[in-house]
Amino acid sequence: MSRPYNFSAGPATLPYEVLQQAQAELLDWQNSGMCVMEMSHRGREFVSIASQAEADLRELLAIPAHYKVLFLQGGASAQFAAIPMNLLRDNTQADYLNTGIWSKKAIDEAKRHCQVNVVASAESSRYTALPARSEWKCNPNAAYFHYTPNETINGLEISNVPDVGNVPVVADMSSTLLSRPIDVNQFGLIYAGAQKNIGPSGITVVIVREDLIGQAKAHLPQVLDYKVQADNDSMINTPPTYAWYIAGLVFKWLKAQGGLAAMAVRNQRKAALLYDYIDQSGFYHNPVQKEVRSWMNVPFTLAREELEKPFLKEAEQAGLLTLAGHRSVGGMRASIYNAMPESGVVALVDFMKDFAARHG
Ligand code: PMP
Repeated sequence: MSRPYNFSAGPATLPYEVLQQAQAELLDWQNSGMCVMEMSHRGREFVSIASQAEADLRELLAIPAHYKVLFLQGGASAQFAAIPMNLLRDNTQADYLNTGIWSKKAIDEAKRHCQVNVVASAESSRYTALPARSEWKCNPNAAYFHYTPNETINGLEISNVPDVGNVPVVADMSSTLLSRPIDVNQFGLIYAGAQKNIGPSGITVVIVREDLIGQAKAHLPQVLDYKVQADNDSMINTPPTYAWYIAGLVFKWLKAQGGLAAMAVRNQRKAALLYDYIDQSGFYHNPVQKEVRSWMNVPFTLAREELEKPFLKEAEQAGLLTLAGHRSVGGMRASIYNAMPESGVVALVDFMKDFAARHG
């Protein structure tokens, strides 16, 4: 493989084999005479692509039959609004855990729809530590509890699903879904924008327990109504067909890699390699408490801020792309999703060692 390694947080690098297959099928998908982009979403070819993608995702995550799988538009951000609009029913209250910039955005949007109770906030630690469960102020009457298992910008990841009693758990898994096995039964709803671990931007996966849908307020736009979408196989209008197809290729790729258990082993190893080096370098620093460090997004700073520009420039020359941190926090960030091979992390660590030796 001769491409550089791309550490973008999203849209992010895709598996090389997936891109090759898309290239091979670009002009003529399986003797259909059409590119997938040119197919009617109601034609038998695309319907088979769409349903196979759902079947493969169900297999990868062992999604029980009483959960609906939806492929929607508007990104995870549209779900920030769709979730309260669908799940509140007659309730007016929802619980949210604030662990970072994406939790905060979900909270701000939900406030337009309901009374938001922030059960705990990691803001005082600048989103580097998770408040102890004993300090959370949960509301047993909340319509749902929302959290962000992986904060893409801050690099804080919660690996255990919080126990909030009978309140349905809603998780923004945009930057962690498919990185390891999960028990879908522990959730009322899981959602994820695709552009990290699933495929290209433009499509959003929603996995929702059937009994939670179908009682949304009448004014809810139909495209946002989970029940309407579920009843129409996520095709009440034209879906993002090409993004759906690529996601399907990624699911097949994940199965060929050995599924999510195999990905988890690989992802943990990749993350450990990078964090271990950062911690012992004396030159780079990651501020997040060890127990909640993300496997997917690794933010770090350099010994001196003025070295950031040369670091990024030299990294790019060494074939290591998109290492700048999010514009809101600065520093560096290496996103190492499923499609980032271990060789990419090794190359990054080697470069970091060399850079530190020259500038330390
Ligand atoms: N949640 C998380 C955790 C994210 O990382 C992102 C995007 N980076 C979003 C939500 C927003 O996603 P979208 O751009 O698809 O609306």
